[in-house]
Order: sequence, then C-alpha cells, then structure tokens
Amino acid sequence: MRASLTAFAAATLFAAATFAAAQVPVQKPLEAMPYSPSLDLSSLDRSTDPCTDFYQFSCGGWKKNNPIPSDQAAWSVYAKLTNDNQQFLWGILEAAAKAKDRTPTQQKIGDYFSACMDTAAIDRRGIDPLKPALARVAALKTRPALIAAIAGIHHEIPGAYFFNSGTDQDAVDSNTIIAVVEAGGLGLPDRDYYVKTDAKSVTIREQYAAYIVKLLTMIGEPENQAKTDAAAILKIETALANASLTRVERRDPHKTYHKMSVADLQALTPAIQWPVYLSTQRPPGSATLASLNVAQPEFMKAVQTELTTEPLPALQAYLRFHVTTAAAPSISHAFQQAQFDFFSTTLRGIPAMPPRWKQCTRQVDRSLGEALGQEFVRLTFSTDMKAKTQLMTGQIEAAMQMEIEALDWMSPDTKKEALRKLHAIRNKIGYPDTWRDYSTLTIQPADYFGNVLHAASFQDAREWNKLGKPVDRNEWGMTPPTVNAYFNPQMNDINFPAGVLQPPLYDAKLDDAPNYGNTGATIGHELTHAFDDEGRQFDADGNLKDWWTPADAKGFEDRINCVRDQYANYVIVDDIHINSKLTSGEDVADIGGTLLAYIAWQKQIENKRLMPVDGFNPDQRFFVGMAQWACENNRPENLRVSALTNPHSPGFARINGVVTNLPEFQQAFGCKVGQPMVKAKVCKVW
Ligand SMILES: [Zn+2]
Repeated sequence: MRASLTAFAAATLFAAATFAAAQVPVQKPLEAMPYSPSLDLSSLDRSTDPCTDFYQFSCGGWKKNNPIPSDQAAWSVYAKLTNDNQQFLWGILEAAAKAKDRTPTQQKIGDYFSACMDTAAIDRRGIDPLKPALARVAALKTRPALIAAIAGIHHEIPGAYFFNSGTDQDAVDSNTIIAVVEAGGLGLPDRDYYVKTDAKSVTIREQYAAYIVKLLTMIGEPENQAKTDAAAILKIETALANASLTRVERRDPHKTYHKMSVADLQALTPAIQWPVYLSTQRPPGSATLASLNVAQPEFMKAVQTELTTEPLPALQAYLRFHVTTAAAPSISHAFQQAQFDFFSTTLRGIPAMPPRWKQCTRQVDRSLGEALGQEFVRLTFSTDMKAKTQLMTGQIEAAMQMEIEALDWMSPDTKKEALRKLHAIRNKIGYPDTWRDYSTLTIQPADYFGNVLHAASFQDAREWNKLGKPVDRNEWGMTPPTVNAYFNPQMNDINFPAGVLQPPLYDAKLDDAPNYGNTGATIGHELTHAFDDEGRQFDADGNLKDWWTPADAKGFEDRINCVRDQYANYVIVDDIHINSKLTSGEDVADIGGTLLAYIAWQKQIENKRLMPVDGFNPDQRFFVGMAQWACENNRPENLRVSALTNPHSPGFARINGVVTNLPEFQQAFGCKVGQPMVKAKVCKVW
C-alpha cells in the first residue's frame, strides 16, 4: 500500500456542519479537478543542500505553504488530492440529489447523500435508532442468552464485539473462499494501547475510560454506574488485548493461519454455539461449513475465558458501550461530537470536525463506492491515461525481471519461481471491468441510520455469499476515487485506482521524468510488495507456500535486516523511533520501487536527448518528481498513533531512506562520501 490509511477516517465519519463551518475554510463543490504540477518548483527549499537532506530540499517549500487544515490529522500531497477528489465527488452527489428523472444509481447515491446531510432530521431522532439494540442487550438475563446474542449483534450492527468474522481466500488455496474468525473487540486503535505502561499510554487509557463514561451517561446511565462499567469494559478489553498478536506478528501469514473444523473451534471455545453463530451470518440456504480459519486461536481462548468468568452485568456493559460507539457516527450530533473529541482530538490532535459534506461524501464512497466511482471515472480518467499507465507498468515489470535475473545472492531455482510469480501478476488500472451491482440495496431519502445499516448488511451478505463460489479476480479492494494503491498477495495483483492517477501524482501535462519518478515509483512499490517480507511467502498462484531454498531465504533476511537497521535509527516524534520490523515491507517497497522506476524511465528515454529544465538535469527531475509525492505535515499526536499502527515510515524517511541507498541519486546530484545522503553501506534487496 502506498499511502497510510488511518483509523480516524472510520472513527469520525460523521460530523455536524454547524460546528465545523466556523473553523474549516469554506469550500464549494468542484466542477473540475484542480491542477497542480507533479514537479513543483514552489515546493522546493533551495536553501537546503539536496545531498544533506533531500526531503527538505524537495518538500521544504511545500511544508511551509501547506499548513495542516483544522479538520485533518496530517496534510500531504496525497491527503490534498484526496480532499480535491472529495470536493469533486461532492458536486456529483449534489447533482444526483437534485436531478429530475434520475437513474437508479443517481437515486441511490443522491438520496444517501441528502439523508446524511439532513442533520436536523438526524438530531430530531436522537438515540431512537439505537433503542431496539440497547433494549435487547438490557433484556439478556443469563450468560448463555448473552453469548447467543453476539451472533445477532455481529449480523446487524457492525462494531467491535469480542471478535470479528467474515470470509477470505484460503491462504494455502487461493481458489477457495473460507470463513474466518479473527481477533477483535477493542475500542482503542491497537492492542499496544492496553499493554504499554509508559505515562502517555496510562493517560490515554484514562481518557478512553472517560469517553466510555460519557457515552454511557448519554444513553441514560447514572454516572457512578457508568464509571463502574467503564472499569469493567477496560478490564475485558485489556484481557483481549493481551491475547492478541502484535502488528509485527500479524505480518507473518503463518501466525494467522489455523484452519480447523467447526467442531475443533467448538472445543476451543465451548461457550459459543458455533453452528448457530455461523448460520446466523451466512445467507439463508447456503451449505454448512466443514472448516474455517481461526486466525488467532490463543485470542479465542481469551474470549472463552472472558465470556465465562466476567459477571453478566460487565458483559452487558461491554455490549452496550460497543453498540453505542459503533452507532455514534450515524446518530445525533452530541454522540458524533463525543466520539470526535476522543478519537480525533485527544488521540490525533485534530482541532475541528470535518465539514458535513465531507463526512457524507466519504460515507457514500464507503457504502456505494462503485456507484459513485463510475461518474468519477467518466469525468476524470481518460483511455489515454490508462494506456500510459499500462505502458509504464509493463516497463517496470521488465525492469523487475532484469533485476531478479541479475541477483547474485539468489539461486537459479528460486529465480525461476520468482519470475513465474512476476509474470503471473495481474495489473488492474483505474476501475473494475464490471461494476458492482447495488440493485438489491434499498436507499431511502429520509432514513440515514437505516441506510447506513442496510449498506453495511448488503456488504456483509456480499462477503458471506462468496462461500462455495469461484473467486472473483476482477474484484477491487479500493473504490475508484481512492488516492492509494495496493498489492494483494492472494490475488497476486497490483491495483491502481483512477484517484491516484491524477495530478500532481500522474501529470499528463508534464514529461516522463517526474511521472516515472512519481507514479512509476508507486507502480514499482506495489510490484515490490509481491516480494517483501510478507508477499514473498506467497507463490505465483497466490498460495502460502515456501518456494525459497533455505540459503536464498537467508540471503533475503540478511538484506531486509540491513533496511531494518537503517530505518530503526529514524525518529518519528519525541524519542519514538520507527518500529522497522513493522515498516520494513513498505521501506523495501519504497527503495525497490524507486530503482525499478528509474530503470524503466531510462528505457523510456533511451535515444532521446533530454535537456535541463528549470536548472535541473533529467536525472535530477526524476528524483525531485519522486520525492514530491511524499511532502507532508503531521500533528505530533497523530505521529504517536502512527508509530504504533502505521506500517509506513513518515515522509522524510520514505525519501531520505530511499535515496541514501541509490548511487543513481548520488550521481545525479554530485553528492560526496561523508554527506548525509551518502551511506557508507547501501541496502539493496531488489
Ligand atoms: Zn505499500
């Protein structure tokens, strides 16, 4: 993945315009996407020597000219383009809401948007939409009744209730979709928040407890009771956190693959009636399950312990709180505000709620992304852009083949498998070949909460319906306007939504140098993920299978450790260093991706005589174009969350960490041994 996806987007999806209007600059729907060049001279800081700090040289001006808006945790070239895309989608949605003689797609996206924008109606309903679920939790009089009720809650209101379930490709057989039971049940963004003992973590837990108290009193609990409940809820979540794998452990697909029969899962967690639970999730009439993946068996043992030892009132309080916090973004303003205050302001330092139009646009993208995305693609993504991206991708794959063939540390047998995998990768560019069919999803113009729930259960049913059917290899995991890209190891495909192929990332008005540096390096980045610490464990068919000789695996580990040692030295914020065991997959993709893009660009310009532009020679323009994708400003609070949760390094490390390993860069700028951008020993994996 190229950009960092953060939890705050999900936690703060709804906000009231009344509050935000005073603090966020007034914006209007965009009729056309704004243009800014992919190599921007005003973003430079010419007072810094590129050989001293290339990131500051390339992005210093950008950082100065682009303060973080009050509704954002961070601000970056990617975030700014995301915001532009959203403003453009806003115009599409307003038109769909008002249009006469609407198409079924316009009806759905338009009515969803206007129901979301009608905050007066949402506020008038108060907590009414939540009352049936709260009443059901209150009516649970025995422990077995409570445990049985978890199945229905999972099915009806998406949230964090003890564990998660769903479907996925079988890790060792990518042609088969199986059910998955996975760790979950936490309110804070990571298990580390519960287990760390430093003062900052202790304070955050206290603030989280205060948030729980606040929400519980808002649904009518006396304050004393709410305080007792908050302590009980934190105790349950702490037990679950202690049994959860760390993010670094979860990077090892073997650690999250434990296929077993339903009977085995029943023996592991006898308190839960799994045949009943699974039949509640599955669509009616579907076949019973023989086996499933229990991603973290030790975690499920902790669930069993909590469900059988915690007092019934504590378990009820846990469900009551999680139902409420899950619904908070979709009900009245006071709940949205309480959730924003903790998850966005306290945790990430964001002063102001995003304006309502932005929250609603994001929510339509989440619920009806491929309906909204069709219009975005039609208006922003030309066949010419698709053709150019395809050409670039082909050149970068050819560069990867050359690199693999030339590796001095890999045996011929492993190389053969690596090339087989490379050639099997599918390139998906812009948007899906077949659009998702939303015809069975009903959207009402005056029932926002209902629309959110219907869209969630539509999505849920879609996932469970995949059981027993052939894998749909045309499916996308991101919507077309998304400013991001990804590699999926089980599909063995790389995916570039139309949203990421816009200026200033891909710039049709500029020449190849900045475009190969920027978008080319993104393509190379995703391709390299097929061969990072995680991706390399899957073969050409997307199956978890070791195709490496032990000596080659060691050769890889030695090289990736070089990268880990380098990045562990970078400081994120305060005295917190990069956890490079978490980020090395992304770091290796950044380094390898840039080199591949450089090789592809050399191929593209061979026999062409390129002249300097704006005082930069062609190689320099490639590297400045590359660096300027990563320009960013970040709030310290958000950096602390990133340090625990984000597998991507901060922007400065993603640029300086890369170029210090590339002699091609040092040559381009004439950097000398001893300067900070020249490392004594370079790390090279690919
Ligand atoms: Zn990535």
